[in-house]
Amino acid sequence: MRKHFVGVITKKVSNCRNCANSDCGKEFTPRVYNAIYCSAECRKIITNRKVLQRYYDKKARLNSTRTCETKECSTILSRYNQEDICECCKRERYVQRLVGWGWNEKEVRRSTE
Ligand SMILES: [Zn+2]
Ligand SMILES: [Zn+2]
Repeated sequence: MRKHFVGVITKKVSNCRNCANSDCGKEFTPRVYNAIYCSAECRKIITNRKVLQRYYDKKARLNSTRTCETKECSTILSRYNQEDICECCKRERYVQRLVGWGWNEKEVRRSTE
């Protein structure tokens, strides 16, 4: 009888594991074999943290400075600028395109000022 009782205890202890939330680390007995958190609360905390981490990674990428692709132009691009060249070069490209179509360069420049 006593022997059996000890056996149950040992089994219980071996089933224990520590919560995967390092801030918690509580020992718990998982109800399902693949549980890694002691509670739904801990799982939520870690999931939220991962989501937040991804958000910050994305934000850091957006904040990294890009410069204009045009030769001899090193204007820092606004992060709202979806293109690889600055507003100024964009205008210049537009002017050159119109000139290429036979427009008068002076006229075009005046109208895009
Ligand atoms: Zn926990
Ligand atoms: Zn530029």
